[in-house]
Amino acid sequence: MAEKASELVVNGVRKAFDAPGGRLEVLQGVDLRLEPGQAVAVTGPSGSGKSTLLYVIGTLEPPNEGTVQLNGQDPFELSEAERARFRNRHIGFVFQDHHLLPQCTVLENVLIPLLAGKGAGADDEARARQLLDRVGLGDRLSHRPAQLSGGERQRVAVCRALINQPTLVLADEPTGNLDRRNAEAIGTLLLELGREHNTMLICVTHSSELAERFPRRYQLRDGKLWNGAVQRSEKTEQKA
Ligand code: ADP
Ligand code: MG
Repeated sequence: MAEKASELVVNGVRKAFDAPGGRLEVLQGVDLRLEPGQAVAVTGPSGSGKSTLLYVIGTLEPPNEGTVQLNGQDPFELSEAERARFRNRHIGFVFQDHHLLPQCTVLENVLIPLLAGKGAGADDEARARQLLDRVGLGDRLSHRPAQLSGGERQRVAVCRALINQPTLVLADEPTGNLDRRNAEAIGTLLLELGREHNTMLICVTHSSELAERFPRRYQLRDGKLWNGAVQRSEKTEQKA
């Protein structure tokens, strides 16, 4: 049965890699359900599979077992080309390194996700300007990434993730390369913009300070998501 629209349902996801030392069982049964406007933080030790989880949810890597449904669609049932369109339409990514194109201006960088689809129209450009204004970069539209600070570059990356009005934003250690003040500002922006645009947000982070600002928190450990446990507490934690 199709899930209701505008929802993320991750069910029993398993993902393993064949590595030189043998088979690596990274995700061993991950369940997660998100509705519009909900934000979750995922913490966990390095190598625990946080990026792998975002790749599977972000439709970039198929699971070995289990399903992902976004807005009533299992993206892994689509052809590769259809899946790329689906991803571009429904999902926005923010990475640790901004991945901005150095030769493009701030405004052009934000508009890039639209070029894969119908192209950027006047409305889109107006929305890009509005978003950049919203994050305090209204007077940096013609700057190139090299002419921005690290925090400013990451704010551009956040705007780029939102330009297609995605239902789901996936952020992989978005504040990992920033100093504390800028990290805090990016965290605030992600949470505020998620609420304003009613998007679902999954944010992977090393920072327990950032994680604690999220209404829902999970830790990825032993291939599974555990509730609430930023600081490990055997008494209170339970599987998600
Ligand atoms: P995290 O983001 O939590 O640090 P990752 O999801 O990047 O962890 O990786 C989880 C584990 O899977 C690591 O041990 C990593 O080396 C391994 N891994 C990730 N991608 C691949 C791959 N394509 N092939 C083989 N092993 C991989
Ligand atoms: Mg990672």
